[in-house]
Amino acid sequence: MYDYCIVGAGITGITAASILARELGKKVVVIEKRDHIGGNCYDYVNEHGILVHKYGPHIFHTRYKEVWEYLSQFTEWIPYVHRVLAYVDGKYVSFPINIKTLEQLFDRPFSEQEMRDWIEKEKVPIKNPKNAEEMVISRMGWFLYEKFFKHYTRKQWGVDPKELAPEVTARIPIRFNRDDRYFTDPYQGIPKNGYNAMFEKMLEHKNIEVVLNTDYKEYIDAISFKRLVYTGPIDQFFDNMFGGLPYRCLDFRHQVIEEELYQPAAVVNYPGEVSYTRVTEFKHFTKQDSKKTALCFEHPKDHLSEKDVYCYPFPVREALEKYSKYKRLSKKIKNTIFIGRLAEYKYLNMDECVKRGLDIKNFANTQADQNERFNYLGL
Ligand SMILES: Cc1cc2nc3c(=O)[nH]c(=O)nc-3n(C[C@H](O)[C@H](O)[C@H](O)COP(=O)(O)OP(=O)(O)OC[C@H]3O[C@@H](n4cnc5c(N)ncnc54)[C@H](O)[C@@H]3O)c2cc1C
Repeated sequence: MYDYCIVGAGITGITAASILARELGKKVVVIEKRDHIGGNCYDYVNEHGILVHKYGPHIFHTRYKEVWEYLSQFTEWIPYVHRVLAYVDGKYVSFPINIKTLEQLFDRPFSEQEMRDWIEKEKVPIKNPKNAEEMVISRMGWFLYEKFFKHYTRKQWGVDPKELAPEVTARIPIRFNRDDRYFTDPYQGIPKNGYNAMFEKMLEHKNIEVVLNTDYKEYIDAISFKRLVYTGPIDQFFDNMFGGLPYRCLDFRHQVIEEELYQPAAVVNYPGEVSYTRVTEFKHFTKQDSKKTALCFEHPKDHLSEKDVYCYPFPVREALEKYSKYKRLSKKIKNTIFIGRLAEYKYLNMDECVKRGLDIKNFANTQADQNERFNYLGL
């Protein structure tokens, strides 16, 4: 008899398991269908000794002190501040757009005022942008849109930016200073021995059992538990009764080359017409010494089967409406909580997942329905 069954050994499920076992003394089973823990944050040391993130670059950043402090019990950190470059017109330029970007593009110095004046002239006056293209041109004009956003957004989502909600491009900042940090959170870093070494420590507890290579639906009737923490896709929980929720997926193509370094930053965006969107070179995170270097090219693709690596919920209204139906239904399931990026159908950074894991205490402190045996279709 377990107190809790947790579906999914991603960062959300692992944090929840750690809190429930360590702080609340609960007996927990974590069921994971992949052959590894860590979900999409999974990393491993490749055959050349280089630490690689299997599902694209993961940089930990947060403004929540409690999140940083919680994880710091299980890992030391490599200090790393993420700075992204974009490859435009044959040059590496700073991104998100700031004064340096214009200087690199135009090969001349800009003051803050000059940048403001330049952007003011470029901007297209649109009061209420209706789509992702209008959002960018209303904030910075056609020139920067064409260089940085048009092809990138089309590749990333597989549709013209005109067909996407304005919010998709609204969150990318434009800075009238020289701050070229990608994230501005006060706490940033990469776990010293990798995410998975940290996760293993989080799960190392007598009250936690982990079952890999197992779909929870095939296992759940064989075990007994009081409460469920579900971090898998919400539509699959309900057997897709309102239809599947769409995702944009990525094909992560890893390769090792015989060069010490390939590019000048950990992540370089390719907003031009090549088929990949960005390239990650992992040695920039760890500063590892090797004659070879490990790269990952990201090729966006459609979501064709449940086997694809789900990356981004598709930002269109119909998908969100469908999700709200599942969400309403999920509220009726007793003794169960739906948390994490797949269960909430929402892009979440890792720190937001950890926060949800820490907040599991609130759920645990509510009274369980003693007579209500959990039933995953018990509507
Ligand atoms: C390309 C990319 C780069 C990113 N980079 C960053 C970054 O730099 N910084 C950052 O903060 N965030 C980043 N993120 C976000 C980060 O990946 C997520 O916040 C995090 O992985 C979400 O964790 P999770 O536990 O909610 O979900 P997941 O990691 O998806 O874990 C859910 C787990 O549930 C399992 N599961 C699903 N269905 C079942 C089932 N039926 N039975 C059993 N198990 C099941 C899955 O196999 C999976 O392991 C990035 C995301 C992407 C796509």
